[in-house]
Amino acid sequence: MSSPVWHPFTQHAVQPDAIEIARGDGAWLETRDGARLLDLISSWWVVTHGHRHPRIVQAIKDQADQLDQVIFAGFTHRPAEELATRLLARVGGDLAHVFYSDSGSTAVEVALKMALGFWRNKAERRTRIVALEHAYHGDTIGTMSAGARGVFNAAYEPLLFDVVRLPFPHAGREDVTLDALRDACRGGDVAALIVEPLLLGAGGMLTYRAQTLRDMQAICRESGALFIADEVMTGFGRTGSFTACEQAGVTPDIMCLAKGITGGSMPLAVTLSSKAIFDAHYSTDRSKTFFHSSSYTANPIACAAAVANLDVWDEEPVRQRIATLCQWQADFVAAFAQDARFANARTCGTIAAIDLVVADQGYLASIGPKLYDFFLSRGLLLRPLGNTIYLMPPYCITRDELALAYAAIADAADMIGAR
Ligand SMILES: *Cc1c(COP(=O)(O)O)cnc(C)c1O
Repeated sequence: MSSPVWHPFTQHAVQPDAIEIARGDGAWLETRDGARLLDLISSWWVVTHGHRHPRIVQAIKDQADQLDQVIFAGFTHRPAEELATRLLARVGGDLAHVFYSDSGSTAVEVALKMALGFWRNKAERRTRIVALEHAYHGDTIGTMSAGARGVFNAAYEPLLFDVVRLPFPHAGREDVTLDALRDACRGGDVAALIVEPLLLGAGGMLTYRAQTLRDMQAICRESGALFIADEVMTGFGRTGSFTACEQAGVTPDIMCLAKGITGGSMPLAVTLSSKAIFDAHYSTDRSKTFFHSSSYTANPIACAAAVANLDVWDEEPVRQRIATLCQWQADFVAAFAQDARFANARTCGTIAAIDLVVADQGYLASIGPKLYDFFLSRGLLLRPLGNTIYLMPPYCITRDELALAYAAIADAADMIGAR
């Protein structure tokens, strides 16, 4: 190994050297030696309209010429102000304030800290966090605490805080989840419930009903617990609507957005909060301040990219593109529903997933890397979660490009079966 770079979620002892990408264009990546790869996972779920959308690229260039970075405590700038106003106008509900950070994990950390700060400033002893089984909320200590436990965080377990874990709301067994939430809330010490609305991403692309999301929120409302929607992955159209909460008719107290916020061009995240949560921190008593920041909070270039992303949403037929992609995904996946080599063919908006039927399951199962290599050999960037193959393409993908992926998935089953 010649490179000093330590890559994320990479076991360097068994994985080949990283592939150098020199260029991105729409749904495609191009390697240094000119090979093309179809980016079916939107470069880890961030690229929404395709790589290098001209409008977003231009906004980045223009902003870089004006103001690159400025401290965000005591100072502000046009892109941050405009983005905050326009995001709130889009998301609506009870959300009234925008707190900036720079990744999904930090957006969730901020959400958890806001929830705890809210109760402390109101002098109520509520400190427990409730989360779903199989949840993923990030890789920092706080967000790992809220997420599912397993091989990913075993080493850090001694530092993780305890949360109340609700069983995943499998179809037909939603009452088990709701009863567990009611039980947890009965103690009166629940600060907040945090959920990925409608779709648990890293936990295996697990879907659940919108009604269950509404029911969970209603239970929180009754008991006074805050409701946090982690829309880091589901936001910006992935589930078919702008946010997953929008299609479920749910209005959270706190919402985290990150991955698609700049169209996938720059790192940026926001935590949106209700007026009540902001107001609980609003005081002449400085000890009630919301104590959080990161150096690059609301970086102007990233904010300008996010504003340009909203322009794309406003001025291009993005919703139409998404609706079409949702239909294609549903059509392609339907063909796998009767195929005994696959199980749980499912879609949630623009995202499709199917499980390859194999004995050896789970994230560390040897099947994952085999599939990954097979797809790469076909010029396709797909990164299965264990035996779960999913497609989360940018919205600019064409039907023919998607067809390449589904053909390879069908062949993958034969390839695996032959071993
Ligand atoms: C990816 C993800 C995160 C973490 O975001 P990062 O930007 O990778 O830190 C948090 N929550 C959900 C639901 C995610 O999918």
